[in-house]
Amino acid sequence: MSGKRVVRIIFGLILLVVFAVCSYMSFVAAPKSMEMNKAPAESAAPVETPAPSAAPEESPAVSEEPVESEVPEETPEPVNSDLPQIDITSWEFVLANLNNPIGEYTPTTETLEGQPLDTRIIEPMKEFVAAARAEGLSVYLSSGYRDYATQQYLYNRKVAQYGEEVAKTIVAPPGTSEHQTGLACDITDRYYESKDRSLENTAMYQWMSQHCQEYGFIVRYPDGKEDVTGIIYEPWHFRYVGVEAATYIMEHGLCLEEFLELYK
Ligand SMILES: [Zn+2]
Repeated sequence: MSGKRVVRIIFGLILLVVFAVCSYMSFVAAPKSMEMNKAPAESAAPVETPAPSAAPEESPAVSEEPVESEVPEETPEPVNSDLPQIDITSWEFVLANLNNPIGEYTPTTETLEGQPLDTRIIEPMKEFVAAARAEGLSVYLSSGYRDYATQQYLYNRKVAQYGEEVAKTIVAPPGTSEHQTGLACDITDRYYESKDRSLENTAMYQWMSQHCQEYGFIVRYPDGKEDVTGIIYEPWHFRYVGVEAATYIMEHGLCLEEFLELYK
């Protein structure tokens, strides 16, 4: 009996020692970690005072590009670093204006609600229109694809009436109308079909101009860009360029000419 008791006491003592050592170690460790926590906090202040904080903020943008020796050439790039990575030679970016005639370019078309459009934008246009109608808006597709011959007819008629100089400002000469790309459509309100500036006051235009980019469309001839586009403000003319480009263009308040210029 006394032998067992001795064993118990020894065992008890060992436990006590182990407990004491553990307690001591945790006691020692605790203040250390607290000191370690404190240390950076205190040292952070002096680090910030010399104001090197500006450098780390800028460095991620620069470091995105693998560092090469051609630093001078790469410096202008970060300015447009949020530009969508797109191929501007793709069909969505066909540019038709007075300076960029597209000749007798003829897309494959399909008719949607009486309007021929490039087959590739039929689905996005359906979704765009459906979303607007779901908001209770009375959307009307007024004019889609127009072929070279039709444009020539419209143009010649105006030339006969007003002469070439004036005609050019009213109707695009054949090969320079965006309607010939099949990527554009005039959209008006079923109950408000007049194609003039006042259309912008309709609930339809308000909604469509705010949401068009979600479906890949842009307001192609914005107010104030007449000098660049050569076309008056047209709050009815929507053009497909794909969601990425449309989002960038609408968020930055650009016209297509200005956007494409950023890739040159
Ligand atoms: Zn139009």
